[in-house]
Amino acid sequence: MARFDSCPDCKGKKQFECTSCRCGRCNASGVVAVRCSSCSDGAVQCSTCKGSGKILVKKGFFSDTYRTCSRCNGTARHACNTCQGKREVSGTCPSCNGSKRNTSCTNCGSTGKVSCSKCRGNGVVESEWSRSLHTQSVERLKLEHEKRSQKVIAMERQIFDLQEEYWGRGREGNIDGDLSYLRRNISEMEGEVAAIEEELDRRAGVGVAGAAQSFESQSTERLKLEHQKRQRAVLALEKRMNDLQEMYWGEGRQGDIENDLSSYRREVRTFSDEMAAIEKVLDQR
Ligand SMILES: [Zn+2]
Ligand SMILES: [Zn+2]
Ligand SMILES: [Zn+2]
Ligand SMILES: [Zn+2]
Ligand SMILES: [Zn+2]
Repeated sequence: MARFDSCPDCKGKKQFECTSCRCGRCNASGVVAVRCSSCSDGAVQCSTCKGSGKILVKKGFFSDTYRTCSRCNGTARHACNTCQGKREVSGTCPSCNGSKRNTSCTNCGSTGKVSCSKCRGNGVVESEWSRSLHTQSVERLKLEHEKRSQKVIAMERQIFDLQEEYWGRGREGNIDGDLSYLRRNISEMEGEVAAIEEELDRRAGVGVAGAAQSFESQSTERLKLEHQKRQRAVLALEKRMNDLQEMYWGEGRQGDIENDLSSYRREVRTFSDEMAAIEKVLDQR
């Protein structure tokens, strides 16, 4: 079970295009039809007959022989090449200067993008499974924790046995394929275990990431404990990030690694911020 799902609103894109500052004049295309500068009415003087409408065929003693200019049909003018006779051409929108947006927008801070409110710009939301942890009893959570821990141990045992079979007893086959499957499962299971641990910590009131709390009112002993706890959590997160990179880069897992990593990085950042806050309080004592 993943702890985070791609945000259903922004589909993981984290932001939307701001609709408040779209340039209305060019319909946010940056271009509008502007008057052709090569002509005045869509037609120009015929260059073949130089505006005379006729072409000299034969120079005579008394009079020259002309034929009607076939390009302009004798009208002396033909459609403007620049605008094909339409009198207008595509040009930079004068309202937005081609930027497609109005220059000042309070909705998006003139960036053209607004952060997704559902996921607060994270691109991911807590998964249904992760949310379901909040409503389960402590006993149930402990049970789930135990179940998964056992599974991890069993799978690690399986890896050991497999290596023994392949390397020790010369079994033929694809050991990497077998192992990567198990490792992936272990990694996923460990993620769930960590999630359950966090939920249990929250219940125990030990405070984890995101919980706003005043460190000032807590005893020095307690603060040191809180600091250690976060340090361990950061180490565990970093291990999980390593595992993830291993899965993507080493074992060719398909998917959006940045998306997966970003949620972990966010957690690491939160813990780090809290550790810094705790250190500050401890320094002042
Ligand atoms: Zn979103
Ligand atoms: Zn805007
Ligand atoms: Zn002509
Ligand atoms: Zn023209
Ligand atoms: Zn415009």
